[in-house]
Amino acid sequence: MFEPDPALNLLPVGECHDDALQLQRELSLVRMALRVGRLGAWRVMLPERELVWSEQVREIHEVEEGFTPSVEEALNFYTPESSGRIREAFSKCVEEGRAFDLELEIISAQGRRRWARAIGEAVRDQRGGISYVQGAFQDISELKAAEQRMQESARELANTLESIAEGFFTVDRQWRFTYVNSEAERLLEKTRDELMGKNIWKVFPDASAQQFKAEYERAIAENRPVTFRQYYPPYERWIEIRAYPSADSLAVYFKDVTKDHVAAEALRASEERFRLVSRATNDVIWDWNIVDDVHWLSDGFLTHFGYRVEELAAEVRAWSDRIHSEEREGVLQGIQQVIASGEESWADEYRFQRKDGTWAHVLDRGYVLRDASGKAVRMIGSMTDVSERRLAEQQIAEQAALLDNAQDAILVTDFADTIIYWNRGAERVFGYSRSEALGQRSVELLKSERARHSEGYSELIERGEWSGELKKFDKGNREIFLHTRWTLMRDEAGQPKSILAIHTDITEKKKLEAQFLRAQRMESIGTLAGGIAHDLNNVLAPIMMCLDMLELQLPGEEDRMLLATVQKSTQRGAELVRQVLSFARGLEGKRVPFKPTHILREVHKIARDTFPKNIQVSHSASAELSCVMGDPTQLHQVLMNLCVNARDAMPNGGALHLTAENVTLDEVYSGLNPDARAGRYVMINVADTGVGISPEIRERIFDPFFTTKELGNGTGLGLSTTLGIVKSHGGFIQVASEVGQGTMFSVYLPATASEGEESAERTAPVRLPQGNGETILVVDDEESVRTIASKTLERNGYRVLIACNGAEAVSLYATQRNEIAAVLTDMAMPIMDGAATVVALKSINRALPVIGSSGLANVSGLTKPLGSDLNAFIAKPYSAEVLLNTLQSVLTKNESVLAAGA
Ligand code: ADP
Ligand code: MG
Repeated sequence: MFEPDPALNLLPVGECHDDALQLQRELSLVRMALRVGRLGAWRVMLPERELVWSEQVREIHEVEEGFTPSVEEALNFYTPESSGRIREAFSKCVEEGRAFDLELEIISAQGRRRWARAIGEAVRDQRGGISYVQGAFQDISELKAAEQRMQESARELANTLESIAEGFFTVDRQWRFTYVNSEAERLLEKTRDELMGKNIWKVFPDASAQQFKAEYERAIAENRPVTFRQYYPPYERWIEIRAYPSADSLAVYFKDVTKDHVAAEALRASEERFRLVSRATNDVIWDWNIVDDVHWLSDGFLTHFGYRVEELAAEVRAWSDRIHSEEREGVLQGIQQVIASGEESWADEYRFQRKDGTWAHVLDRGYVLRDASGKAVRMIGSMTDVSERRLAEQQIAEQAALLDNAQDAILVTDFADTIIYWNRGAERVFGYSRSEALGQRSVELLKSERARHSEGYSELIERGEWSGELKKFDKGNREIFLHTRWTLMRDEAGQPKSILAIHTDITEKKKLEAQFLRAQRMESIGTLAGGIAHDLNNVLAPIMMCLDMLELQLPGEEDRMLLATVQKSTQRGAELVRQVLSFARGLEGKRVPFKPTHILREVHKIARDTFPKNIQVSHSASAELSCVMGDPTQLHQVLMNLCVNARDAMPNGGALHLTAENVTLDEVYSGLNPDARAGRYVMINVADTGVGISPEIRERIFDPFFTTKELGNGTGLGLSTTLGIVKSHGGFIQVASEVGQGTMFSVYLPATASEGEESAERTAPVRLPQGNGETILVVDDEESVRTIASKTLERNGYRVLIACNGAEAVSLYATQRNEIAAVLTDMAMPIMDGAATVVALKSINRALPVIGSSGLANVSGLTKPLGSDLNAFIAKPYSAEVLLNTLQSVLTKNESVLAAGA
């Protein structure tokens, strides 16, 4: 009897009683269902293993209609793996009657891959043997593909969740973990197995007490995501969480932000600190964001400069515009340079305008912050108002300048006697510069008397000050007398700190005092001597008269000889008395016309008689010597003074030569000497071969009381008296001197001619010989002489070349020998002296006329070794007349020599 399958039991079968018909109907229904469900059926008959398949199965395999393969052939349509499984399942089904259900991969006749599901079971006959195996077959390719896609996307999702850097988990509505990624495992310090399916609050009981639970519940209740940050004490971590609720679960992303949190916290704290510091400090703190040009200034800005920070634009200009215009460029350039050069810090001082318009001096320092590439992005710095300090510095500088202006030497020493301050006055008085003196021991540097110093010290310590006179030595080892005041300087605590010493140089005063005393003594000696001389005259006068009478009364030869001796001695005595009287009478004198010749002779005589015998004295005077108007006694004194000086200058002997001659001075000459006027003079020279006068003291020798001689030997009054007398006669004095060679004093006294002479002079002025455009090389180390000589020569028809020393002269001559007609050279010069110069010039050209000149010519041996090398010699100072005459004579002589040679 046909038993309908309960699964198909849909049909109202009650009305059908024909079994066969019923079966027919049921079968067609099944077929329909199979078609709709795209199900195929198959059967393999046993033992023949003959395969029958339905239309659908054929279609799945994509074989032609009517083709029915054998079982073996059909198996070829499967991948080896699938066919293996079918074989196994099939044989188990045939042998043991076990049903199978397989998913198989087909490679269709068209080569397409498909998936199919095959169900099979064994069908037995009445005897229980298996007569065939049959089953259903379904194309599940689409299903399979969808499943694969799903698996893939699940895998992708899992991959994504695994690969994100954050922790991720999901929990269901019962708070059970349903997914945990590996980052979550790491952060939660639990494995997936420990978590999956477990209740989150059971695993992490501490978390339920925290914000976590409340936030998750809120997310679920309000059905929206929540984000929060929470500290989780068991792990000592800050955790940032985002939780997304969905219908049946909660997805949670979370990460460890402990580091960020700490950094952010630290930054916040440091910004806070920065703010507090900038408020607390007296300075103005600034922060310049270079990239955006935002300039922030601290509150100090208000207190120092009067601006409210809000008043100023937050640009750097707001600051730079207020810098003094003279300094602005420099300041900004300095900053740019620091930024460009990669340096770290910048500093400058400038004037900055306050709100009230006044100027503040500020010291500004900044640090440059750079990004990783080294680009400057920010500068932070501070402005310090140094106006007060500047003011103080200025005051100190002014005070120091005042101290420097002081004539006195002002110095400060510490208690170890180290010099810590040294003013200009000290430089002047002691000759040591500030840098030489600072750091030295004062007692050693100035060679102070230690005993005297210690005395002063004890009193200084006791009373806080001391004053007295000290003797010290300057850099040139010159003795200096000082009036000194010492003051003890104390520090703020009142402790003695240093010693302020103010020294007044009283050396000159001391000397003046001494010299004044001596001069007074001399004066009284003079008066006394004058008195004695006067009395002696009275004593001598009757002796001389008696002698004349005795001569008559005692005619004997022997008596006369005796008398002559007495007479000579008496005359000597009378002469001496006259000397003493002329000395004692002083400057005031009568004016009479006289020829100085006999005074010259007289002085010569005294010198010869009284000076040491190793001094040779000579004199010469021109025969037509003019008269001068004056006091012969005073002129006598003048010459005596000069001779005594000459004697003193020749302690080891030498030569003293007195000369007198007429000279005419022109305007050129007088223009160069303020004391000289053009005109006719009598020139008296006193020349010695002594030690000479060094240039350093040349200026001072005429000063009263200036002397280089030891106490008792000199008064320093000789030359000053001499100059006074000469000036009172309308004359002047010139000095020529070379150290080690000798000195010549030239006394010029205006000449007074007799009436006739004078008019003749006026009507017939001296005719000077003129040059013819010849070039003369003038060599002299003294500028005044060069000028006189060249002016004189140029005025009188010559051209002039000038050399300042011998070397220059020789090189000039070597290059311009064809132009130079003659050379006029000084004989005493530094570098290359006259003699060497003449020899060098003559070696270039033997025929070159050379005129030597010197202020010391008469006495020094300068010209002697030259022999014939020198064509002529003229003594300095020479007049135009002498120079031009000499020049003309050497030039004409030379011409005749050349002519003779030719
Ligand atoms: P005193 O002879 O008393 O020193 P003077 O006024 O006569 O005073 O001379 C001043 C100084 O000039 C001398 O001390 C000396 O240094 C210097 N002096 C003067 N004449 C000569 C000379 N012929 N040679 C070298 N030095 C001289
Ligand atoms: Mg003298």
